[in-house]
Amino acid sequence: MKAISVLGSTGSIGTQTLQIAEEFPEQFKIVALTAGKNLDLVIKQIETHQPEVVSLADDSLLPELSRRINNLNEDSKIFKKPLLMAGAEGLNTAAAWGSADLVVTGIVGCAGLLPTLAAIEAGKDLALANKETLIAAGPVVIPALKKSGSRLLPADSEHSAIFQCLQGTPWADNARLSTGVPTPGFKSIQLTASGGAFRDWKAEDLVKATVEDATSHPNWSMGKKITVDSATLMNKGLEVIEAHYLFGLSYDQIEIIIHPQSIIHSMVELDDSSVLAQLGWPDMKLPILYCLSWPSRLKTSWPRLKLTEIGNLTFKEPDTKKYPCMELAYSAGKLGGTMPAVLNAANEKAVELFLEERFKFIDIPKVIEAICEKHKCDLNLNPSLSEILEIDNWAREEVLDYSEKKITKMQF
Ligand code: NAD
Ligand code: MG
Repeated sequence: MKAISVLGSTGSIGTQTLQIAEEFPEQFKIVALTAGKNLDLVIKQIETHQPEVVSLADDSLLPELSRRINNLNEDSKIFKKPLLMAGAEGLNTAAAWGSADLVVTGIVGCAGLLPTLAAIEAGKDLALANKETLIAAGPVVIPALKKSGSRLLPADSEHSAIFQCLQGTPWADNARLSTGVPTPGFKSIQLTASGGAFRDWKAEDLVKATVEDATSHPNWSMGKKITVDSATLMNKGLEVIEAHYLFGLSYDQIEIIIHPQSIIHSMVELDDSSVLAQLGWPDMKLPILYCLSWPSRLKTSWPRLKLTEIGNLTFKEPDTKKYPCMELAYSAGKLGGTMPAVLNAANEKAVELFLEERFKFIDIPKVIEAICEKHKCDLNLNPSLSEILEIDNWAREEVLDYSEKKITKMQF
C-alpha cells in the first residue's frame, strides 16, 4: 500500500489522481489533501478518502470546513476528523506529511515551489505535474534532490513517455532520474505537441483570439492555465526546460514535433539510431498511474488503444513564427540560472491577466520577451532560493507594469 499526498486535489491532475486511488484501493491510500476554494468537492473527497490532513489555500474557509466535517462525523461518514490547516504552512505540512510515501504536485504555477522543496527535504518521492516549479527553480531543486535522495517521477505525459522508454534501455538506472547527470545513450528526444487551440488558425487571426477560444483544447481536458500555455505553445517550451532538468540533456538534444492526434506521447532517439516511442489515448490518468505504480505496472480496464480507429498519425515541424514562445523558452533555458524563472513568472502573470481579459493573447509572447531581455544584465547563474523568489516577484510586477501602461501601444 502506497500512501499519497495530493497537492491541488480539486484540480484536473488532483481529481484524476483521486480517481486512480478509488480504482486501486488495495494499492493506494490518500493521506493528505490540499485544495483551493472548492469546499463542496473537498468535502466529498474527505468522505471518500478519509485523509489524515487537509489544507486549504485560504484560512477564511476553515470554520465552514470544520463545521461540515463535524456533521459528517455525526452521521458516521468519516472515521476520524482530519487535521485541518491552511495557507503556506498547511501546504508545506501536507507535502512533508509523515506517513506519505509519494507526493503528487497538482498545484498550478510557482505556488508549488515551497511545498515541493518541503516534500524533497522530508525525503518523499514526487509525481511531478507542477512543471513550473522545476523550470523556475531547477538550480535549487536538483541539488535538493541529490541531497535527499528523493526521486522526481514525471507525471507530464511527454516526460512520462520518455521515462517509460528509458525503462527499456540498459540505462534504466533509476537513481539517475533528475540528478542533472546526462542520461547516456540518448541522441535526442522528441517532445510531441498537439498544436493547441489555434493550430488551424491563420497567424494573422490570433489578434482576435478570446479567452473562450484559448481555453478550448482540441485533445486534452486540463486546467485553464495549462490550456492557454498549450494555445501559445509555451507549454511545449516549458516542457523543453523540464526535460533538460529531468533527463540531464542539452537543449540541442531536445526537439519539438507537432503531432495533432496526441497518440505518440514522445520519442527517444538512441545512439544506434533506433527510436523508441510510447503510445496511448490522450488521457493523463496513465502517466499519473505510472508515477504511482512505478516500477510496477498495474492492470487497468481502461479503453485499449486501437490504431485502426485512428487511421493516420501525422507529424510536422512547429511554426516558430506563429508561436514565438517556444524559441523564448529555448533561449531562456540555454542562458540558465534565473532566466527560466523570469520566463515562467512573466508567462504566469501574462496568462493570469489574459484570463481576466486585461491582456491580449498576442501580447503574451511580446511581454515575456521584453522582460527576459531586461533581465539579461542581471542574470544570476547560480541563484539561491530567495534570489529565485525575488526574481519571480520582480518579473510578475514588470508584467503588471506593462499591462497598466497598455502594452499594445508600447514598442517591444
Ligand atoms: P488546475 O487549475 O485544474 O488545478 C490546480 C489545483 O491547485 C486546484 O486544486 C487549485 O485549487 C490548487 N491551487 C492552485 N493554487 C494554489 C495555492 N496557492 N495553494 C493551494 N492550492 C492551490 O490545474 P491542472 O491542470 O491540474 O494543472 C496542475 C499542474 O499540473 C500544472 O503545473 C500543470 O502545468 C501540470 N500539468 C497538468 C496537466 C493536465 O492534464 N491538467 C498535464 C500536464 C501537466
Ligand atoms: Mg505535457
